[in-house]
Amino acid sequence: MTPLQHHDQEREALVREIAEEVHDTQYLTGCKTLSPRVLRALREVPREAFVPEELRPCSYLNIPLPIGHAQTISQPYVVALMTELLALEPDDVVLEIGTGSGYQAAILSRLVKQVESVEFIDALARQAKERLAGLNFPNVTVHTGDGHAGWPEHAPYDAIIVTAAASQVPQALVDQLKPGGRLVIPVGADHWRQGLRLVSKNLAGQLHEREVLPVVFVPLRDTGAVPDGSP
Ligand code: SAH
Repeated sequence: MTPLQHHDQEREALVREIAEEVHDTQYLTGCKTLSPRVLRALREVPREAFVPEELRPCSYLNIPLPIGHAQTISQPYVVALMTELLALEPDDVVLEIGTGSGYQAAILSRLVKQVESVEFIDALARQAKERLAGLNFPNVTVHTGDGHAGWPEHAPYDAIIVTAAASQVPQALVDQLKPGGRLVIPVGADHWRQGLRLVSKNLAGQLHEREVLPVVFVPLRDTGAVPDGSP
């Protein structure tokens, strides 16, 4: 068996595990199943290519893993659930805040026309940019910046996903969401306990929010912090 085939089997087992967990948590999340498109994206993106080499054997465990600079690649179940909650369409343009390894951006890129992703730590942004180009995910653009401001240049977005915990929903992100769009974001002042929130904007521009699941994310750094990679 080649190493690649080995990973294919592990990936398939993980996708099944995630699908079961989504089914088992539906009463909490309101999300009964993963759509075939999301399942396909999970099957197509090689998570092992987004984790540090020494952690590759752990790539297909359903857990977050360290990626350096005191940051993590999210738990695969959480990536799948957040992606599903966005209800993406092939022509959508999506904004991600917190590029990290680039894994979530790669999953999104399989489902939409364009992904704009903003990362605060320049070293991670560069690494993700290089990795995504090398793996041929051409419809992801990585920017270095503070995600509290969103990325006005390409706004408004059909969907916005934030993969670090904010103390409250940043107004700029709400403003950059299209009517009919969805925003998924972990919110909580306590860094070890947050609620994943789904914010929907209807066609009249009115907002509806619901709490989906308790989660643990690294914090969304506040404006004014120095973007140098220090913990
Ligand atoms: N989506 C990532 C997981 C990222 S972890 C993946 O798939 O690997 C959260 C990321 O958010 C970290 O890389 C962190 O540096 C970044 N981050 C933290 N605060 C930020 C901010 N204010 N603006 C943009 N990115 C931020």
